[in-house]
Amino acid sequence: MPVTASPSSPELAPQILRDVFGYDAFRGTQAAIVEHVIAGGDALVLMPTGGGKSLCYQIPAIARQRLGRGITVVVSPLIALMHDQVGALHEAGVQAAFLNSTLDWQQTQDVERRLSRGEITLLYAAPERVTTPRFLELLDDLFARGQLSLFAIDEAHCVSQWGHDFRPEYRQLTLLHERYPAVPRIALTATADALTRADIVERLQLQEARHFVSSFDRPNIRYTIVEKKDAVAQLLRFIESEHAGEAGVVYCQSRKRVEEVAQALVDAGLNALPYHAGLDAALRQKHQDRFLREDGLVMVATIAFGMGIDKPDVRFVAHLDMPKNIEGYYQETGRAGRDGEAADAWMAYGLQDVVNQRRMIDESPADEAFKQVMRGKLDALLALAEATDCRRVRLLRYFGEASTPCGNCDNCLTPPELWDGTEAAQMLLSTVYWIRKQDGIGYGAGHIMDIVRGKDTDKVRQKGHDGLSTFGRGDTYSEAQLRGVLRQLIAIGALHVDAERYHTLQLTPESRAVLRGEARVQLRASINAPPARRSRRGASAAGSNAAKKAPAAAAPLDATGQARFEALRTWRAEVAKAHSLPAYVIFHDATLAAIAARAPQSLQDLQGISGIGASKLEKYGEDVLRVCGEH
Ligand code: ADP
Ligand code: ZN
Repeated sequence: MPVTASPSSPELAPQILRDVFGYDAFRGTQAAIVEHVIAGGDALVLMPTGGGKSLCYQIPAIARQRLGRGITVVVSPLIALMHDQVGALHEAGVQAAFLNSTLDWQQTQDVERRLSRGEITLLYAAPERVTTPRFLELLDDLFARGQLSLFAIDEAHCVSQWGHDFRPEYRQLTLLHERYPAVPRIALTATADALTRADIVERLQLQEARHFVSSFDRPNIRYTIVEKKDAVAQLLRFIESEHAGEAGVVYCQSRKRVEEVAQALVDAGLNALPYHAGLDAALRQKHQDRFLREDGLVMVATIAFGMGIDKPDVRFVAHLDMPKNIEGYYQETGRAGRDGEAADAWMAYGLQDVVNQRRMIDESPADEAFKQVMRGKLDALLALAEATDCRRVRLLRYFGEASTPCGNCDNCLTPPELWDGTEAAQMLLSTVYWIRKQDGIGYGAGHIMDIVRGKDTDKVRQKGHDGLSTFGRGDTYSEAQLRGVLRQLIAIGALHVDAERYHTLQLTPESRAVLRGEARVQLRASINAPPARRSRRGASAAGSNAAKKAPAAAAPLDATGQARFEALRTWRAEVAKAHSLPAYVIFHDATLAAIAARAPQSLQDLQGISGIGASKLEKYGEDVLRVCGEH
């Protein structure tokens, strides 16, 4: 291939962005990364889910191919998604292929032949494939001919046991560097914590790589955490009022719960499917395909679902049970709104979640030091759930980023009224103390609350607990209020739930500060009413910096525009089906909306619409004009 420009040609990358992908500007750190990698530098890229990592290696791959440097090998653990990723590149007119266990012998041969002929720009492969002797032979051959351009290592946190998706095969990847030291490498991940990052550098020998750390903010995602009462009913209300007919993911803790919740949603008339590791692989794949290909499907899943799901128009991610830590929560919620349009991260959490998560750590076989790390991570998430100030400020602070109140989370939009639960907390703690002193055993939360509220139950009478000095002292509090206080006490570590002894409550060293009035217990006065419904596109800013951060709201379509949009969607569904690809790979909703708004008369009118590159213009331009003309 002829060399048409020098690697530093500053025009090359923006030109590829425009012509191939149809976008007019790089986002955030993308431009710097792309330039660095085109010039042959190593890079470690940390970017939140939905930040736009793919272009960071796809554009250098295309650029370097045009400069005569040959192929880019993309290492990815996401075998189930390679077909769609490669399909998306084909749609954009880029030569790509994948090698993994889903191909038969003939297909593999075919890819290998194209590879040696230099007909491929990006080759996707699973890590276990990359390190086979056969594959290395292919690479040797390319390398010898100066046609091995770049290694892109996606989901790089898989190399670390601190990341949540450890894949031992990733450890073998150092081989690439040892064997082809001159070939640049770019490693990418959305997992940001310092421990994981250091591990990636060490394990992949990326000491020389430049680090590109993006802001972890996802301003179009609205964070809401509500107190759990009847979780499924709350979820249904949330979906029906905010996201009827839209795609979303609902995360649950266990397989059994996934099945129950999926059934409840179906019974309520929603298009919902279950996904968990207990389903057989074929069914899992089928459900994932349907989620990617159909409009408005709700996936109810365990955390087994999600890595690499790059569906851009997931409008909400709901948690019915609390995750283990903020990293997990952020990665899962980050799957909402990758297209930059308004999206929701919604979680219901209650006393039982706190108890369950603490118990899982206590009962896990890990050593004490590891448990300590896990407890610290859980505490940070509990603090987030209990927070009465801006959720985003807390989330970003956790990732080492300072920010100001966001105007697009529940606490910013509807500042909670607070009440001081310290007195109630002291009554509960003293009851726990005296009862243990008197009986030599502990009791569960329900009984403790009955005593404080002065309830005349059989158990209270039998045990003579109506004689305790705290009996009935808190009769003005509701059970819900006391439950809230207990949850906070457990969250801040001032109460311990003994998993081995029927979930009985015990004091801890931290209890003392509360008993002495040195630590105050602040609670929400009432469960937040859901914030006012916002317009479909763009977040409404409640007098804050959300206005400048949230994406510009596109003007709503008029009636004929809406009709064009619907007709374009129908046309897109047919094309996607014919190519067996998800609809968003053909065009994003936002692109269709922009076309509908412009009411194009000629191919020229389509130029410059975000998401329409040269290849798609040529392939679909006439069809799009025809569909628009008919409406
Ligand atoms: P990540 O892998 O970081 O989660 P993706 O690479 O899937 O994110 O990108 C998320 C979405 O943003 C994709 O739909 C992609 O097409 C879009 N995108 C990425 N970069 C840009 C850009 N510079 N301009 C417009 N859209 C972009
Ligand atoms: Zn906020």
